[in-house]
Amino acid sequence: MSSLKIVPHPHPALRWKSKEVTQIDAELKAMISQMFDLMYESRGIGLAANQVALPYRLFVINPSGDSSMKDEEFVFINPEIIRRNGSEESEEGCLSLPGIYGAVPRATRVVVDAFDLSGRQFEMDVTGLDARVIQHEYDHIEGVMFPDRVSAAVMKEMQPLIEDLEREFHQKQAAGMIPTDDELKRQLLDLEKLRT
Ligand code: ZN
Repeated sequence: MSSLKIVPHPHPALRWKSKEVTQIDAELKAMISQMFDLMYESRGIGLAANQVALPYRLFVINPSGDSSMKDEEFVFINPEIIRRNGSEESEEGCLSLPGIYGAVPRATRVVVDAFDLSGRQFEMDVTGLDARVIQHEYDHIEGVMFPDRVSAAVMKEMQPLIEDLEREFHQKQAAGMIPTDDELKRQLLDLEKLRT
């Protein structure tokens, strides 16, 4: 397996509607382990599969951000948010939008249903930061990014920074350092066929 990399906006993987995985095998476990490594290296607290250009419905979190706190590590495979309650606003960032932050309204409490690494189904009822991270990562696998959910005023502040990222990405594509969108989408479709 080639090594994974966090891809920045506007990589097409980030707008992909991810597909359910049908098998939890050694290769998938190795990918998930790499996702945790990349998340800690980048000082993140959550990472979705499509942020490393894998079109699968799964994400990892560790709300403590501390790699030594293994009991805070959770893998959500084929998750569904089955309940949302309340609303509160707090600042978020995203490893696919480096240096960009903004206040995002989220449910204060969510109940999520998912499968763990051993294929066991579990349900989690969480509030606060845990609920926020889960909603942020769940959005990713639906192809939704946090700027989609901010107010017009916050968006106005973030827009120039987002455009900088887009310009940089398109320049790298023009220079052949990153494949074209069509090629990236072909790669995603191939990965999708492989395990969904
Ligand atoms: Zn994110």
